Amino acid sequence: MTTTNKLPILVGHQDTLLHLYLPERGEGRDFFIRSDKGHIDLPRAREGGLAGGFFAVFVPGDPSGPQPVRLSRTDMIITGAGYEFPLPPALDLAYAQRVTMALTANLFRLETESEGQVKVVRAVDELVTCLREDVHAAILHFEGAEAIDTHLDALEVFYQAGLRSLGLVWSRPNAFAHGVPFAFPRSPDTGPGLTDAGRELVRACNRLGIMLDLSHLNEQGFWDVAKLSTAPLVATHSNVHAITPSTRNLTDNQLEAIKDSEGIVGLNFGVNDLREDGNNNPDTPLDTVVRHLDYLVDKLGTDGVGLGTDFDGTKIPQEIGDVTGLPKLIELLREHGYDDVSLRKLAYENWVRVLNKTWR
Ligand SMILES: [Zn+2]
Repeated sequence: MTTTNKLPILVGHQDTLLHLYLPERGEGRDFFIRSDKGHIDLPRAREGGLAGGFFAVFVPGDPSGPQPVRLSRTDMIITGAGYEFPLPPALDLAYAQRVTMALTANLFRLETESEGQVKVVRAVDELVTCLREDVHAAILHFEGAEAIDTHLDALEVFYQAGLRSLGLVWSRPNAFAHGVPFAFPRSPDTGPGLTDAGRELVRACNRLGIMLDLSHLNEQGFWDVAKLSTAPLVATHSNVHAITPSTRNLTDNQLEAIKDSEGIVGLNFGVNDLREDGNNNPDTPLDTVVRHLDYLVDKLGTDGVGLGTDFDGTKIPQEIGDVTGLPKLIELLREHGYDDVSLRKLAYENWVRVLNKTWR
């Protein structure tokens, strides 16, 4: 099998594992069969030039828990100029570990079933080989450290299994840090920084060579990591706060710190973090995407920006539609003035560069 697009693309964040795990979310689709549901399956990935990326393990709210299960539009509080969601409760460790184990196992099953078409990569040379040989590269990522105990035993075990990227938080609190509530317009400075256990987790990830993802982390936590971490700073799926002032987007000061660390920001396709009005409306023109990308490139250079996408995790511009819309965006960027050297960096080389500086 070959990709129709010559330019291989790696994405910083996608929630396809959750779609495959929860039939009500993925509508029962199969990763190996072309579907029109969701954003990614292997046939469509081939068509769109998607060479792989970070496969997120996300733990939804506990359905048997005492508090609300997951965010829905009915939880949304409309404010004068925008919206605000209440922060979901922290998760129970045993529940989070059970779900994390199941999603992680599903990724390994998918690798086996793929008969060589998908590989879980644990080192940069494996990733580069996948890119060269057109094998879909999967990086195991946890979106939130809820499955990690504060003794960090689970971190060691999951690292040995293949965990190479960890988001300290999703948009909720845990033992290590505090995520931002979804809100617009609002600063990401929404609460306290890392806990002592959070600082230990950062040190342990640096030591093991696990990439830390700062998307969803609040601003105090961001600065704590910036002060402590020896690795490039990474936000896998976040945009520009100066254009779209949602809590999920990055301020100019944060962008400067990411640049100083030689880190990367993965552009998020989520329309409510792209549109100036913060609306969750997929009728969003592609120049909105380009505007955030130009701004990120202006602040970080072409070495500091990649594609995050959040495929299968959020509502994206209908002009992109799904992963098969990626070549359209690349073409638009080319017309907009990005040359082949820059496009290669944005498409995959920057992710490889940052992982090369982060992984052991
Ligand atoms: Zn996310």
